[in-house]
Formats: sequence, C-alpha cells, structure tokens
Amino acid sequence: MAFSKLGLAPAILEGVKAMGYVEPTPIQLRGIPLVLAGQDLIGSAQTGTGKTAAFALPILSRLGKHSSEAGPRALILEPTRELAAQVETFFRDYARFSDLKTTVIFGGVGYGRQNEQLRAGTDIVIATPGRLLDHLEQGTVRLDKVEFLVLDEADRMLDMGFLPDVRKIVERCSRQRHTALFSATIPPQIETLIQWAMRHPQTVEIGARRSPAETVKHVIYPVSDSQKTDLLVELLKRVNYDSVIVFCRTKHGADRVAHVLKRANHAVCVLHSNRTQREREQALRGFRDGRFEVLVATDIAARGLDIADVSHVINYDVPQHPEDYVHRIGRTGRAEATGDAFTIMIAEDSSHVFAIERFIGAKIPRVKLENFNYRYTVLFEEEKTGRAAGFPGRARAVRVHGGYHFAPGRRR
Ligand code: AMP
Repeated sequence: MAFSKLGLAPAILEGVKAMGYVEPTPIQLRGIPLVLAGQDLIGSAQTGTGKTAAFALPILSRLGKHSSEAGPRALILEPTRELAAQVETFFRDYARFSDLKTTVIFGGVGYGRQNEQLRAGTDIVIATPGRLLDHLEQGTVRLDKVEFLVLDEADRMLDMGFLPDVRKIVERCSRQRHTALFSATIPPQIETLIQWAMRHPQTVEIGARRSPAETVKHVIYPVSDSQKTDLLVELLKRVNYDSVIVFCRTKHGADRVAHVLKRANHAVCVLHSNRTQREREQALRGFRDGRFEVLVATDIAARGLDIADVSHVINYDVPQHPEDYVHRIGRTGRAEATGDAFTIMIAEDSSHVFAIERFIGAKIPRVKLENFNYRYTVLFEEEKTGRAAGFPGRARAVRVHGGYHFAPGRRR
C-alpha cells in the first residue's frame, strides 16, 4: 500500500516523499484514514512506530491552506519541550510544500517570539500545557477555532501531573473538533479523560501495547553496586556503538556518570531538567549531528524524542517504573532499525527488574562480561540456581542467546 492511496492532500504527499518515506507504517495505514474521515482516534502505539506522521499527515491534509482566521485550527499537546520542538519540526517538514504555518509554544524561553508568531496568525500550535495556559490567561492565544486536537503521550502527561492543565485547555477548545489521543498505556485517569473529551473514538492498537520494539536485543548485566561505573566504562570500551544513550535515575547521578565518561575520553553530553533550555538544545543538537557519541540523560529524554540511529541504550540505573523501561529502550530500534538495550542491575534492583519482566512478558537474559574482574554479588546465585524469585509461579529455565530465559510456570 502506497501513501498515495491514503487520500492525503497532494502538497502533503510531496512532503512525505521528500522525507524519503516509501510505505506507510501500520499505525499510519490504520490511523490516517480515520483522522481524514473525521473520526476521533485513540492510538495505542509506541514511539518509533511512526505515530507522529499518523496524526500530522491527515491533519495537515484536512487543514489544506493557511487561514488568516484568528487562532490556530489544530492544537497538539506534548508533555515536554523537547517533544514539542521535535513534533513541530515534523509538522514543518511534512507541510513544506504548503503555506500552512506552525508555532511551537513551551516554557523556559521568552514570550516575545511566541507572541509574535501567534499575532501573525498560525494554523497549527504544538505546545506543552503550562506555557499554553499562560498564553490563554494573557489572551495571546484563543482556541475556539481548533478543529483538531491531539493529546500526545497522554500517560506521560498524567505522570507529570499535567492532566488538570490539559482539562482546562480542552475546555477552551471548540466543541466542534476532532480529537486524537496517543498513549502507551490507558490507566483509569486517561480512560476518564477519553470519556470526557472524545466522541465515539476508534482505537488503533499496534502490536502488543506493552511490548518494546521487537528489533531490540535486551540484556541485563548483574554487578555489585561498587562496580557499576567500572562496568559501564568497560561496556563502552568493548561495544561497537555508533551512538548511545545512558539513562540515570537522578540528575546528580547523570552528572557524575557524564564526568566519569568524559574522563574515559568519550564525547559526552548531558540532558536533564536542571539544565537550561539552551543547554538542553545544545546537547540534543550535538548528539544528533554526531559531535557527542554518548548522551547521559534522566527520563525526561526517554519519551518520544526522535534521535536517529541510536545504536545502544544503557540503563545505568534500572527504571523504577516498568513503563519507563519500554520508553527508554524505545530510543533504539526505531522505525525498523536494530539496536541493543543493556541494563546494569544490582541486587537491590531485583524487584524492579522482575516488575519489568512481568510488564513486557519476557525474561531478559543475564549476561556477564568476559574477563571483567567481578566482585561477588548475590545476583550470581540466582543465575546458578536458575530460579527467578518474584517471577509469577515457578520458572522453567531455557537457554537463549547465551543467557537464560525463564518461562513463567502456572500459579498453584
Ligand atoms: P515516531 O514514532 O512518530 O516518533 O517516528 C519515528 C521515526 O520514524 C521518525 O524518525 C520518522 O521520521 C520515521 N518514520 C515515520 N513514518 C515513516 C515511514 N512511513 N517510513 C519511514 N520512516 C518513517
């Protein structure tokens, strides 16, 4: 099936061609016709599946031409500044053969340029909730002409405490609108939001909602707490990577790890919320254009950021929430590329690791680095006995990829 058969506007099709896309991805195949037909859509697909184009292309097609009416006709809400900036870039790229205008609105920067663009008239606003609310309060934007509303990464907006702001924003949008919502998981609060904000939505679910990108190879490296950093340095020495993101639990931890890696002569940049907007943009740009080979980040960078060709994701700290594991490793294995995801695990992480394995429905192989001077950790006992405490029921051990795969037994 080619893009040309989906009913997109000719100018937008040209934009798609210029991006080098040949065939629509599954979420695009199923989502684009629904949005074009004016259906409300719930998209349950991970990042890396092409979900941005799945809503951007039909919205741009329906908008057609620039309108000088006051107020945007499409509004896309994103949880983070980085995502908002990235999604706006996609909109601009897809719309480059049309005269449609886009504006990105987020906090941490001045109001001047945003006010100017809003005053000049824009068709599409891509925004984070807080700063958009400020503009609404100041009367610098109105949303009564919004025909298309997208709530992207809705579960992330929930996690970040944005749902009350999202509700206030939705209330200011026209009732005659189409709404699309994207979320990797649908917890009860999102279900309530769906009931309240959407009309007869159709759900498009791509793949199992919980499973991480299938092209990614997952491995866990058990190690004692005192050797985490040594193991990371050694891993980076031995792995043939192009670009790697190292995830840390805390900002302080990220700074410390970045410092150690710099000392080991890696070109490193850091991304976390204590950095200024300028520093964050510089880090991302440098990582994208290859000046930095290692990006050390906290979870703000995990969701949805489109960083091309990340060959490896390393969890220096095991994520506390299983969803974050899936989001973190969503950085690799994007759009059919393959990648590796390594997780460094210490004994205290056991319950989080088992929660992740239950969440993704698979056991992640434990692997040891050859000739690494390991100190003892109780985790090596688990490997010897072949039992996975905490995994539901009894575990049957099956060897895969040189590690162990535990198929869950039946609960008695
Ligand atoms: P997303 O899931 O929207 O974050 O998109 C992930 C990546 O896939 C982005 O780099 C897109 O440019 C790319 N992409 C989206 N749609 C297609 C397509 N039909 N063919 C090839 N690449 C695509």
